[in-house]
Amino acid sequence: MGGILLVIFMVLYLSGSPAGEITTKNQYTHAPTFPGGIYLTGYQIENIMASSNINTRLNLVDVARKLDDSDYNPDNFPGVIWHPRNSYAVVVIMDDGKLMCTNTRSLQEVESLFKKLTKKLEESGLITPRMTCPNCNAVVDSEDVVCIECGYMLQDRGV
Ligand SMILES: [Zn+2]
Repeated sequence: MGGILLVIFMVLYLSGSPAGEITTKNQYTHAPTFPGGIYLTGYQIENIMASSNINTRLNLVDVARKLDDSDYNPDNFPGVIWHPRNSYAVVVIMDDGKLMCTNTRSLQEVESLFKKLTKKLEESGLITPRMTCPNCNAVVDSEDVVCIECGYMLQDRGV
């Protein structure tokens, strides 16, 4: 174990350039110093993990049937695993509406995947479309009459 750590430190030390000669794109303005005088000169985002919640119960059998490129084997794992096309990302969908997204490289990718997924679920009739309350900006069900956050009247029914 000590040997492995030493090797890692040596690699870091050898690949680190002296302060003032930082060449990587994402760089620290003040390079932090680690014990032994090692400078960490930059970093690269390799994998972003994000979670979200569409706050509604889902029938995962229906989700797996309507969502292309998805796997659902409840004997192995209790969620639907979605492999969006043209992406290395993996999105896990749970029956309580929780979403977990891994293997994304940017926040834009995370947002676009979550948007794409909600749109697909809405279009398949698996969740009701959402809207934003014009009064408090809370996300509400587009069929709701009253905003659950602020009590704003979202629509007049039967008037
Ligand atoms: Zn509101």
